[in-house]
Amino acid sequence: MSALFARPSLPAAARAAVRAPRVLARAFGGSSTSQKALPFSLRGARESTAQADGGVLRMLMFGKPGAGKGTLSGRLVKKYDIVSLSTGDLLRQHIAERTEVGRMAEEIVATGGLIPDDIMLKILTSRLDLLHNKHWILDGFPRTLGQGKLLDDHLRQRGTPLSLVVNIDVADEIILSRISDRWVHLPSGRVYNLSYNPPKVAGLDDETGEPLTKRPDDNPEIFARRLEKFYASTSPLLSYYAEQAGNGTSLVTLKGATSDEIWPQLENVLNTSFPTLKERADQKRKGSLSEAVMARAEGDSAELVR
Ligand code: AMP
Repeated sequence: MSALFARPSLPAAARAAVRAPRVLARAFGGSSTSQKALPFSLRGARESTAQADGGVLRMLMFGKPGAGKGTLSGRLVKKYDIVSLSTGDLLRQHIAERTEVGRMAEEIVATGGLIPDDIMLKILTSRLDLLHNKHWILDGFPRTLGQGKLLDDHLRQRGTPLSLVVNIDVADEIILSRISDRWVHLPSGRVYNLSYNPPKVAGLDDETGEPLTKRPDDNPEIFARRLEKFYASTSPLLSYYAEQAGNGTSLVTLKGATSDEIWPQLENVLNTSFPTLKERADQKRKGSLSEAVMARAEGDSAELVR
């Protein structure tokens, strides 16, 4: 791995735990669960899960910037035994730590542009490849058709194809109206909104009490550019994934004005299509993998949190 893609400050315990990659144990099998009560889109999701390896969730959280992907991923990670990787969080962390990637990406992120596909793939896979057979969600990747194809090739080579793409569909006007109220806790990626999801103490993160910050790219002008980029470069991925349905990757679209409206639909998709997904015993756990690296000293896996 070149210095450009070195992970920022991965704790020593985590590095030790992930040093030896483990062989993937894959169990291919069918599901005999009845499909009768499911709406059409969920039937598709279940069918593909039946073909997937043992119901492992390898999911894309797809949608416009500001649609609530980070909020929903955080809720899933808090509730279920799932790991989430956000490329935006990874980049913000590189930028905060002034790594080589961070210095290269800073200007592009600040102006709402996109980091080149090959660099993004390396940043992502340097983390994704550590997750082995865990359930995982990607948030913010892929963002171009090129990234989508690179990711598919990468996953297929490892025998771990995507199982589910969830398209979070929120109207532009709604996103634009709430973006200026958005504040984030940078180390964790936790997102707050002053109008409908305010922090318990103004300006401070609920879990750590650390200060919240405004993302420099969350202003109306830059945000409009990010939306334009979505329509020009990212939205073509939707038809790409619609075509992949026969290959075992399901596409489900969930509509709503808020994450609270979308959350029960999302839970329903996962509970129905991935019945083996376990809820966490301690659901107070921090809600985003962007938070820290939790490594299991027992050695066979590391839970990557950022
Ligand atoms: P996000 O937090 O997902 O909105 O990402 C913030 C910014 O990081 C984006 O506006 C892009 O500049 C950059 N970025 C995040 N993910 C990607 C990606 N997959 N490809 C290119 N640029 C990305």
